[in-house]
Amino acid sequence: MAKQEDVFKTIVSHAKEYGFVFQSSEIYDGLSAVYDYGQNGVELKNNIKRYWWEAMTMLHDNIVGIDSAIFMHPTIWKASGHVDAFNDPLIDNRDSKKRYRADVLIEDEIGKIEEKINKEVSKAAKRFGDSFDEAMFRQTNPRVLEHQRKRDELHERFAKAMEANDLAELKQIILDYGIVCPISGTRNWTDVRQFNLMFKTEMGSTADGAMEVYLRPETAQGIFVNYLNVQKTGRMRIPFGIAQIGKAFRNEIVARQFIFRMREFEQMEMQFFVRPGEELKYFDFWRQTRLRWHKALGLGDDKYRFHDHEKLAHYANAATDIEFKMPFGFKEVEGIHSRTDFDLSQHEKFSGKKIQYFDPELGESYVPYVIETSIGVDRMFLTVLCSSYEEQQLEGGDSRVVLHIPAPLAPVKCAVLPLIKKDGLPEKAREIQHRLRFDFNCHYEEKDTIGKRYRRQDAIGTPYCITVDHQTLEDDTVTLRHRDTMAQERVSIAEAERILKEEVSLNSLLRKLL
Ligand code: ATP
Repeated sequence: MAKQEDVFKTIVSHAKEYGFVFQSSEIYDGLSAVYDYGQNGVELKNNIKRYWWEAMTMLHDNIVGIDSAIFMHPTIWKASGHVDAFNDPLIDNRDSKKRYRADVLIEDEIGKIEEKINKEVSKAAKRFGDSFDEAMFRQTNPRVLEHQRKRDELHERFAKAMEANDLAELKQIILDYGIVCPISGTRNWTDVRQFNLMFKTEMGSTADGAMEVYLRPETAQGIFVNYLNVQKTGRMRIPFGIAQIGKAFRNEIVARQFIFRMREFEQMEMQFFVRPGEELKYFDFWRQTRLRWHKALGLGDDKYRFHDHEKLAHYANAATDIEFKMPFGFKEVEGIHSRTDFDLSQHEKFSGKKIQYFDPELGESYVPYVIETSIGVDRMFLTVLCSSYEEQQLEGGDSRVVLHIPAPLAPVKCAVLPLIKKDGLPEKAREIQHRLRFDFNCHYEEKDTIGKRYRRQDAIGTPYCITVDHQTLEDDTVTLRHRDTMAQERVSIAEAERILKEEVSLNSLLRKLL
């Protein structure tokens, strides 16, 4: 079996070759951790955004959307804590000249110990077969216990250092555990320093009068500062939510793993305002609701897991990540946070404006509590891409690359292909394409053999191909080819249209959520 890193590399080159994702500024040798979406990528990305937006705003009567500006008053970032605390601890290796996040190096070390434990467990599972009692094995096997002790010790030391913002201790942990630079293999580390992730720029014409502003590192603050506007003008009653999709910018220290960690990316965030004291009930509701949204795509239920945070940000009283099994391990795709009244209270304090809700049922005013769901569009894109990619060996020694993208998210829903380029077949095919294109993205293609055209459509994840032949001219029937099974069926044009509408529409996905 191919190594997971190789699989990932192949997926990255496929994404480029088929117009999904390009390196930004490529002809100038690229800009690190910035990417452009190509002709197919933008369609997939838009479909992901639409799936999220409609699930939020159309399936919930009490959620509305906004689109706030990227530039905001700089005091907002003071109030939110980003100016003082939106930092990552960085460390350099003097030999490779590579920069790392100290916390990530340590987390990876913890991951390695966990891997050792899992290896012991799976080895034993094989040895004992059906009679294997995993819980018992984990509790009693001396090697597993030793690894667990090491892991817990490291985890506790790490959590304490992060909590106390103790940079010297972070470095000491790296030294004590003999963590080496993956490039140079040495332990020649610099001290750990804090690094603020916000991009700064200036607004205004003269240097003197210019105001220093930030590119927003998250979209959430745009929602908080519009809480009153939306609540009043929309006459919203608690509980209610505000959703937003938009660009965010972070000067990430370590920018690897393709579109997993970018410096310019897009977020889909929803802040749900609730009565104080009811936040944990809604936290649980959103935790389940969001997982259902992911699973409805059918990428594989075993690819998701929750990672509950033990160490909470000072403003949060519950937090979890939805992690997805990427080729490089389980990684965060979405965060769900119970943020208490921290943000709104901070904005009250810094703006001097009262930001409260009068609850008619209770007959009192309060600062609402907030549950946030925050997901990266690009990471979501990556989950779809990675889990859909398949290289298939076919009968007769042939092979194909197919993207099993969930049909409602596929960039192109259907390709209409005349079998040959003459005898009126192109005209008939065009006629069908023109009829279908009002409902979904439908392409026409006549170049190359039909087999080659099928392969090209498989490679971009087109769920259906409609082939027009001489019989079509006689009886208005076509061949409908299914991407995943490669099965072909003879159906009327009207029937093909019906099947397509049912299978590729976003509705089919949204219905699974209720
Ligand atoms: P990480 O720990 O991976 O840096 P985070 O916990 O800082 O992520 P949040 O601040 O919770 O992330 O942001 C919410 C979501 O935004 C994440 O779950 C992720 O999907 C997305 N996201 C955050 N940073 C990036 C980035 N640099 N590139 C792409 N997506 C990102």
